[in-house]
Amino acid sequence: MRIEEKEALLKKFAGESEEGKQAEATSENAATAANAENPGESEGNSFDEVVEHHFIDTHGHFDDPSFDEDRDELLEAMHDFGVLNIVNCATDVKSCKSTLKLMKRYPWLYGAMGIHPHEVKGIDEDAISAVYTFAEENERVCAIGEIGLDYHYDFSPRDEQQDWFIEQIELAKELELPIIVHSREAAKDTMDIIRDYEAERVGGVIHAYSGDLEMAEEYVRMGFYLGIGGMVTFPKVKKLIRVVEGIPLEHLLLETDSPYMTPVPNRGKRNDSRQIVHVAAKIAEIKGISVQKVYEVTTQNAKRLFGIK
Ligand SMILES: [Zn+2]
Repeated sequence: MRIEEKEALLKKFAGESEEGKQAEATSENAATAANAENPGESEGNSFDEVVEHHFIDTHGHFDDPSFDEDRDELLEAMHDFGVLNIVNCATDVKSCKSTLKLMKRYPWLYGAMGIHPHEVKGIDEDAISAVYTFAEENERVCAIGEIGLDYHYDFSPRDEQQDWFIEQIELAKELELPIIVHSREAAKDTMDIIRDYEAERVGGVIHAYSGDLEMAEEYVRMGFYLGIGGMVTFPKVKKLIRVVEGIPLEHLLLETDSPYMTPVPNRGKRNDSRQIVHVAAKIAEIKGISVQKVYEVTTQNAKRLFGIK
């Protein structure tokens, strides 16, 4: 692809939508101020630099309806922007099916099968057997996820969340697949369940990690990775910055959670895998290393955990 074509595509996918811009105006200002303090910070976003880099987005939801208009156009262009692989994370049985469809169409796209804590309310064993069958029958299913606990929204009763989290950990152990864990305002229960049900036998990633350094170290001791995404670019995330400083790069994964969690400077717009450049640049800045090193090591981490070829 020629440079002009790429620039046109970049503009097209930059999300011309005005939606959310108003609401995000304050944090945009904060971001601009932050950039002014650190003028080198956005160097990693330059177009030429982006295409020389290769990385894996270990957490996306490209079956989300917000991609209905341009999903194929976007995914077909991903390689030109340095995206080697995407792990698309299902959230319920329907989304497992649409993830499998995407995997069929894009041989470089991998899938995680599972039921998200928001969606476990009222499900039965049929949902779990469906997840089992999908995972067993498809080689590029590389994890059980997105599973876990969300006490912030409490869309599902907490006892149900816990029961289905445990059951899906058991499923992952049976299938010998790592787990992709969602944990929001449920740090202690998440850790207790992971420890009590010996999830370290399969390992996995704590996605959008938001706990403290001490707990991060404990997860790392258990063989888990920490997923770092757009949140690390947000203002007032001192605790997360300490985690990124303190945990060796060998235990971090890059992720977007597309279409959510868009990093600064594009907060308020739809997220997609190309936005990882902002996350990688921030990790490099925090650790005082090159962006290239961040891409290299985290790509190896993702390959090792998910068996990506
Ligand atoms: Zn997610």
